[in-house]
Amino acid sequence: MQFRDLKAQYKALKLQMDKAISEVLSSSAYILGEQVSILEKRLAGYVGVKNCISCANGTDALILSLMALNVGKGDAVFAPNFTFFATVNCAMLIGASPVLVDIDKNTFNMSPEHLEQVILQTIKEGALKPKVIITVDLFGQCADYDAINEIAQKYNLLIVEDAAQGFGGSINGKKACAYGDIATTSFFPAKPLGCYGDGGAMFTNDDDLDAKLRSLRSQGRSNLDKYDNRDMGLNSRLDTLQAAILSVKLDAFIENELEDINKVADKYTSLLSHYVKTPFVPKGYVSSWAQYTILLKSQSERDALKELLKQNGIPSMVYYPRGMHQQTAIKKYGFDKGEFPNTEYVVDRCLSLPMHPYLSDDDIYKVANCIIDFFK
Ligand SMILES: *Cc1c(COP(=O)(O)O)cnc(C)c1O
Repeated sequence: MQFRDLKAQYKALKLQMDKAISEVLSSSAYILGEQVSILEKRLAGYVGVKNCISCANGTDALILSLMALNVGKGDAVFAPNFTFFATVNCAMLIGASPVLVDIDKNTFNMSPEHLEQVILQTIKEGALKPKVIITVDLFGQCADYDAINEIAQKYNLLIVEDAAQGFGGSINGKKACAYGDIATTSFFPAKPLGCYGDGGAMFTNDDDLDAKLRSLRSQGRSNLDKYDNRDMGLNSRLDTLQAAILSVKLDAFIENELEDINKVADKYTSLLSHYVKTPFVPKGYVSSWAQYTILLKSQSERDALKELLKQNGIPSMVYYPRGMHQQTAIKKYGFDKGEFPNTEYVVDRCLSLPMHPYLSDDDIYKVANCIIDFFK
């Protein structure tokens, strides 16, 4: 059994996929070919945002977004403590200071209450200028944007939505990647919408930010004169080949994958909810299930279940085994153990199960029965 079965997906899409790839090979427009701009328009339309700017990966998308918003030294970047390292790494790379926020134990996303607390604390200390909130739509589920938008307005902060795992999710029909001043996503193969290598994108309704992001992804060059560079930027583009691959995958994502993965989630939940804490999806929210993550009662119970699954040939992952405040690269910012009780609770107890739209009923039952046996 695969944790995320990309081979099964390729088998299902092989005909269209091989055709799309060979068209790029024979076109020789390998960089910024027409497939890239066509994909950008389709992605913008799907998400419901005016502009989509593709780039080389989800980490660059975050770095470029912070650059476009002029975030830098002396600025506080508020980010959830329970996430993939890139969320916080990008802030540190451009010289800003991360300020970590604890999570909500139910949704695993940023706690709005704790966010407001750390903003007030940052203002009181006076060393950093509160500038931007990076929200993360963790495991496929949007953050609490009603509450977070209100806080952003109250304290005059920008929002960068890190939807690397959130693409396809929504709240009352409004899709992930439509929430921040800029939103970012990743097309790393195992993400909800993945390519066959690295890829990423940014979304914004603001035309000035769109122009700035397009310039910054190409060395900061002027959009009028390509040999006049106005800013320092990156070389961060989506390959034409990956754009062609994504266009086939986006068809499948819209056609059936998002629906199918939600069916898998519903089956897991109905089989498992008496035994473990299954994922909580608030009313009106749709998840795209980058992960299906359960909580056990203790670290030793989690580790024992993981071992039993492994013995039965079932892969499972601990996303994530530590909070950002427990990362060596972040120690110098002086966050203390105990400041983030919910993150510390979840990192010890979380376990992500095999999850993808091609997971068969047999496999779902195999996973569920193994977990049920564990408790018997
Ligand atoms: C994967 C991921 C990223 C980075 O994306 P890459 O394409 O791997 O650079 C950023 N944030 C989160 C939350 C992620 O899961």
